[in-house]
Amino acid sequence: MKAARRPSDLAARSERLCHIEPGDMVPLPPPYEDFNRVTLPLLKPERVKGIETSLDDTVAIGIPRPASREEEDLLVRKFLSGLKKLFEKKNNWTFLQPLLLSMEHCARCQTCADACPVYEMSGRQEIYRPIFRSEVLRRIYRKYVKPGGRIAAKWNGDIDLNWTTVARLAELSYRCTLCRRCASVCPIGVDNGLITHEIRKLFSQEMGIAPKELHEKGTVQHLRVGSSTGMNPLAAKDNVEFIQEEMEEIAGFKVEIPWDREGADILLIHNAGEMLAWPENVGAFAILFQAAGLSWTLSSEAVGYDAVNYGLWYDDVQFSRVAVKHADIARRLNVRKIVMGECGHAHKALTVTADRLLTGDLNVPRESAMVTLADIVSSGRLSLNPRRNPFPVTLHDPCNMVRSMGIVEPQRRILRAVAPRFREMTPHGVDNYCCGGGSGFAIMSGYNFADWRNLVSSRRKFLQILDAFADEPPEAPKYVCAPCSNCKGAIRDMIGYYHGEERSGLYYGGLVELIVNAMSDMKKPIIQFDGKSSWES
Ligand code: SF4
Ligand code: SF4
Repeated sequence: MKAARRPSDLAARSERLCHIEPGDMVPLPPPYEDFNRVTLPLLKPERVKGIETSLDDTVAIGIPRPASREEEDLLVRKFLSGLKKLFEKKNNWTFLQPLLLSMEHCARCQTCADACPVYEMSGRQEIYRPIFRSEVLRRIYRKYVKPGGRIAAKWNGDIDLNWTTVARLAELSYRCTLCRRCASVCPIGVDNGLITHEIRKLFSQEMGIAPKELHEKGTVQHLRVGSSTGMNPLAAKDNVEFIQEEMEEIAGFKVEIPWDREGADILLIHNAGEMLAWPENVGAFAILFQAAGLSWTLSSEAVGYDAVNYGLWYDDVQFSRVAVKHADIARRLNVRKIVMGECGHAHKALTVTADRLLTGDLNVPRESAMVTLADIVSSGRLSLNPRRNPFPVTLHDPCNMVRSMGIVEPQRRILRAVAPRFREMTPHGVDNYCCGGGSGFAIMSGYNFADWRNLVSSRRKFLQILDAFADEPPEAPKYVCAPCSNCKGAIRDMIGYYHGEERSGLYYGGLVELIVNAMSDMKKPIIQFDGKSSWES
């Protein structure tokens, strides 16, 4: 029996505010019933010694417990100071207006609750309800920041502000993937994803609290070394040289991968994770751009070969540093445009969110690879044989690229041309569900967070994938096309977690690989299923 939780409960000290029992979560169909009895592995006491664990069964950040009452009070004061800044134009010129709209106008109709995959899949745990964390922030803001708030709290909804409230709210901001599905259904336009983003920002910018995968190992490493993967420019070039050799073996002809070519039409920026985890994606772009006769280049300058911008999810300052660096590299290379590779959040970061930041000659035109690839496929410059992709294919819509940016059709035009057995997920396009790895979850795996992601936030996507292929025999190979590096990471992990390859023949990969796999002049297939040629599947 679930405990009914109210926002005010956040302030009351207890061992844990929410616990998911086996059977609470939405059940999985055969042959995955064994996972219906699985719940999160317990956090080992020695691993969580001295850190805050009182929200639920998992930990995303790992906030150290303050050593004294004085330290607690100091942290609460810092939180309040950061909260005030969120509502000041000079300190929050990017997001103040939509934040105010979302804070002031919720009608509590709960339409958003049914749209939220985290809330639904968890078995409707109250603390994961989209408006729960927004309501916590609203109450704190009204009571402690607005004039006369303490008296009005009796009518507006009360909450006590102490270290427990603050620490739980920080963790709670990492139980939402910022997918903004809730915002897309709200009749008023309230964006609970945005409120969550602003809470994360407050903690990072004001208190130095953020998951280490996003901050130290993410943005800080990106700016210091050149890539969030830890690859410096030399290592990136070495890896690409290796990819080039591999591609020549597959293509049967010489493949050029140009670096730092001044005056090229296109600067292509990949998520550098592709160079390590999915090198065929980087190679497929090179084969395709060469076959289409495009003038293009990669950049070997630090930051310029890694499109990620994790600041998008938690910190405007870190975000701006990376975005300006990307644009400045393109400006100095004198390219006509930047093409964003298959990385959804990088699309939104540089193309949309950075738009107010990149003025003057930093405002280099930016284009989605979905559009570039669709133009190539429809140009007639390639000789394509769709029968080389005889396996069933479904498409995952990355939230940032599709729901937030409206890039829906180009990738579908491509699939209709190269994958004769393409079928949509239900729902799809702007209504699609997050992979569960959004907003950084795909790379966050401290404590038992990866289990939480696979069991709770990726569960809806896993059900959607199974449903898309329900008419296919389990042993037949099936391809989940995910044109986003982070989504691919989450889908790889969920397929591994649920044994989806062994039980349902599930494989995954990018979009550009499907195009190259269908090119008539390729010597070997670029897509393989368990080491076997995909051309004969
Ligand atoms: S759908 Fe909008 S108005 Fe309704 S509860 Fe959700 S945020 Fe509030
Ligand atoms: S942004 Fe997505 S995960 Fe977050 S509350 Fe809304 S629907 Fe749920």
